[in-house]
Amino acid sequence: MEPRDERIYEALRRWWGFTSFRPVQEEIIRAAMAGRDTLALMPTGGGKSLTYQVPTMAREGLCIVITPLIALMKDQVDRLRARGISAVAIHSGLSPRQIDIALDNCVYGDVKFLYVAPERLATEAFRLRVVRMNVSLLAVDEAHCISQWGYDFRPSYLRIAELRERLPGVPVLALTASATELVAEDIMHHLKFAEPHILRSSFARPNLSYSVRHTDDKNGQLLRIARNVPGSGIVYMRTREGTEQIADMLRQEGIPATAYHGGLGYAERSLRQEEWLQGKVRVMVATNAFGMGIDKPDVRFVVHYAMCDSLESYYQEAGRAGRDGKRAYALLLVAADDRDRIVRRLEKEFPPLEQIKEIYERVCSYLNIGIGDGGGASFLFNIHEFCAREHLYSGTVAGALKLLQQNGYLTLTDAQDNPARILFCVSRDELYRLRVKRDDLDPLIRTILRLYNGVFTEFRAIDEGELAAWSGYTPERVRELLKLLWQLRVIRYIPSNRSPILFMNEERLPRKDLYIAPETYLHRQQLMRERFDHMIAYAMNEERCRSEVLETYFGGGETTPCGVCDICLARKKAARLAVRSDEAKPRRSPDATPHRVGNAPVDLESRILECLERGITDPRQIAAEMACPPERYAEAIRRLLDSGTVRTTSGGRLERTAEGPAAAPAK
Ligand code: ADP
Ligand code: MG
Repeated sequence: MEPRDERIYEALRRWWGFTSFRPVQEEIIRAAMAGRDTLALMPTGGGKSLTYQVPTMAREGLCIVITPLIALMKDQVDRLRARGISAVAIHSGLSPRQIDIALDNCVYGDVKFLYVAPERLATEAFRLRVVRMNVSLLAVDEAHCISQWGYDFRPSYLRIAELRERLPGVPVLALTASATELVAEDIMHHLKFAEPHILRSSFARPNLSYSVRHTDDKNGQLLRIARNVPGSGIVYMRTREGTEQIADMLRQEGIPATAYHGGLGYAERSLRQEEWLQGKVRVMVATNAFGMGIDKPDVRFVVHYAMCDSLESYYQEAGRAGRDGKRAYALLLVAADDRDRIVRRLEKEFPPLEQIKEIYERVCSYLNIGIGDGGGASFLFNIHEFCAREHLYSGTVAGALKLLQQNGYLTLTDAQDNPARILFCVSRDELYRLRVKRDDLDPLIRTILRLYNGVFTEFRAIDEGELAAWSGYTPERVRELLKLLWQLRVIRYIPSNRSPILFMNEERLPRKDLYIAPETYLHRQQLMRERFDHMIAYAMNEERCRSEVLETYFGGGETTPCGVCDICLARKKAARLAVRSDEAKPRRSPDATPHRVGNAPVDLESRILECLERGITDPRQIAAEMACPPERYAEAIRRLLDSGTVRTTSGGRLERTAEGPAAAPAK
């Protein structure tokens, strides 16, 4: 190892207060400092952000970070600012003026981090400014989005190659938590790596015990873990209604629980999240809308009430347990008909081509975009409201929009919290007359004018809480009065909401010009099936250590059994049982016990005997060979011991007895 680079340790201490790096972080940072293009593969929560943040703080210059999720972008910017680091973000949720200001600060100011949503790269405002910035590093988060081979392909990521041409000599650091070999190659190719260079950290989580329960009594299993494992937990559900039902059920059973999903208002969601974060409520029952950017180290269990669409999602959600390194549990519940139900639902996300076009038209009409209009504009788009009004299934609409996105027509961002906005639609004079006439409205209007500039010319973000504090009204009263002003046509008012933004990459096309490439459609569908197949295989697996299955899926090289998942534990137990039953029970005569008990297949026992013949005598090793549910293995061993066919040696190994019964395998 080269001598340690004090600059990066100094930055780590000074800005983050940490003293050491996690495995591979330092290597990635050194590569970035040395100007080497690097692809870093690290699990979610592994600490990817520091790998571009530390080198940037250790020297001059600005880091451009490309990332598709607005919520995470905002989160990162907030965290950096909280540490006194200057950071800005540009995304489709901002007005052109806000974007101009942010970009100017990157050219003239002392901004260290510029977060950019990929669809903004092509805009004039960005392209003209970026060449004048003093860029030291280009970080590409969620880098797998650049690959057509990946499920999350985003055409706007391909623009990064052009950006690199504008920034000669600036190294790229690509980051992702999921990339097959093919995707990794593709990332390096499309990002124009000078030479291939991959650094990977392990996906193993040694303190996390994975398990799967096949059951028709999911509630019973859920209660069991919630009662047996103290501390905070998360239960992931597939539907919004499900979260409320299960939270109710848990509360009725005396377990403090709350529900969380995207359909709740902003205030309600923050409140529930806060209660859970502070440990006032033990269990959070949520849809997958919950958890991003949440950093609670002492989550003791994550239960999945049903399978995810992919192992990527499963690993990420389950991985929210045990961040503090202490023992934690990740339990997946599976019922017999889950698989078919989920497959049917997933198939619905691939509407026929004609229906995709139909949805495109209806979305455009819903947003009042005429043919030939809308290019480069962004719109608040609440998919659930749209679906309710148009009587469409949200999965189908989401699927159609994804396909339209992959064909370059639009970009749908993640849901994000949007503050309330207002715009005065009367002149100052008219407003003055109103204030005189309605003295109940006067304090509020005065406060608005004092706190927010520019409300006469454009929609301004306001904070209802802040208005309440300054005007002396309660927040509820503020909202009522704002609604009243809106009804009086004094202001236009958009209450705070949580909504994704739909960005039109191109103007609205007439239906006949809309082209959805069949390859993208079929390819995406195939990828969806393959991803779900891996999820099923994980759930159905009864042989292999669960942690190893996940590590292998994420491209890990050599793996070793974790020793703490249900499969490893059952294996250990079976081995112990095998040893103990021999010590405890008097040996019966071979013919006293029938060799075949119940309806257990006889060939398992034969196969165990075969192992012994091959010299495999360690019960754990035999268990690994058997590839069967651990309970069945334990039973088979017990029968062999009971019948006197085998015995255990003092070293804990198994051996054939000399007078083994006639049922020995035919050779
Ligand atoms: P990722 O982007 O890989 O999902 P993040 O960059 O968000 O992960 O980091 C996850 C958490 O790990 C953050 O809270 C971060 O502060 C913490 N972290 C990262 N590196 C270190 C380190 N070297 N020492 C202590 N904490 C770290
Ligand atoms: Mg990250």
